[in-house]
Amino acid sequence: MEYKILRLVITAPFGDTVNTVYPTLLWDEKNIVLVDCGFIGSLSTLEKELGQHWLSVKRLTGLVLTHHDHDHMGAAAAIKRVNPNIKIYASQAEASYISAEEKPLRLKQAEEMQKMLPSDQQDFGSAFCDMLRRVEPVLVDEFLHDGDKMDWCGGCHIIATPGHTPGHISLFMEKDSIVITGDAMALEEGRPVIANPQFTLDLNHAESSMNKILSLKANAYYCYHGGVYGKA
Ligand SMILES: [Zn+2]
Repeated sequence: MEYKILRLVITAPFGDTVNTVYPTLLWDEKNIVLVDCGFIGSLSTLEKELGQHWLSVKRLTGLVLTHHDHDHMGAAAAIKRVNPNIKIYASQAEASYISAEEKPLRLKQAEEMQKMLPSDQQDFGSAFCDMLRRVEPVLVDEFLHDGDKMDWCGGCHIIATPGHTPGHISLFMEKDSIVITGDAMALEEGRPVIANPQFTLDLNHAESSMNKILSLKANAYYCYHGGVYGKA
């Protein structure tokens, strides 16, 4: 069976820097599944990126959200409006935050931190909270569990990688031995690190999750933040 595992690039301005993230596209004869979808407002960039491969948001069959952070689900509701047939996947533990049935943990955390920020960081903190409040919730259509096997691109194994958030998941592409890490692992100067430790909700779990995916000794790790570790 023919398939392609592609890395997309999405950038967004953030203060005086630019944030770059790398969603992954799992494209085979039956499925076109996007893993994480960028920031609030990333829809047009996503269309451009898909356009490079003669694809479009309308043709996506699925969207996997590794967790409920704004840089991973920011464009999800906009995608669902353009393509109401798309199936949205996430773990059960993240689903209630993605749908905002429960207050997103990241917003709770940011509001708590805001109370303790020194005065010169108050503006930044409240802008961050406002941005998190603008994340549009979306309903999850299907839950993914640890050990689930999807038929995407010759076999995709779901791995629970809690820590960054409680229901975080990563994906292992069996045929190519690629781990799509989400935020279970990031790269800094080419080295695997815990993504944003200051925002990690459970650092111990995050460390065991990173070790768990590293122990797979995959050929490559596609990190949402930082790029590819191993063979590109
Ligand atoms: Zn992230």
